[in-house]
Amino acid sequence: MSQPTSVSSPLVTPRLLWIALAVVVGALLLAYLVAFDQGAVSQSGMYLHELMHDGRHLLGVPCH
Ligand SMILES: [Zn+2]
Repeated sequence: MSQPTSVSSPLVTPRLLWIALAVVVGALLLAYLVAFDQGAVSQSGMYLHELMHDGRHLLGVPCH
């Protein structure tokens, strides 16, 4: 006689983990672009700096 197997859905699913990882990576990339890039990696010159300028000041990133 076999034990009855209980089918319960886990609270944290692999899909949820992938979504959480994507959100964290996206947030880190956005924080890098807003605060630290200065065109060094993105090769955008001052375009990204000017685009993110208000966000930089909002976050207190040293600017000018
Ligand atoms: Zn500024």
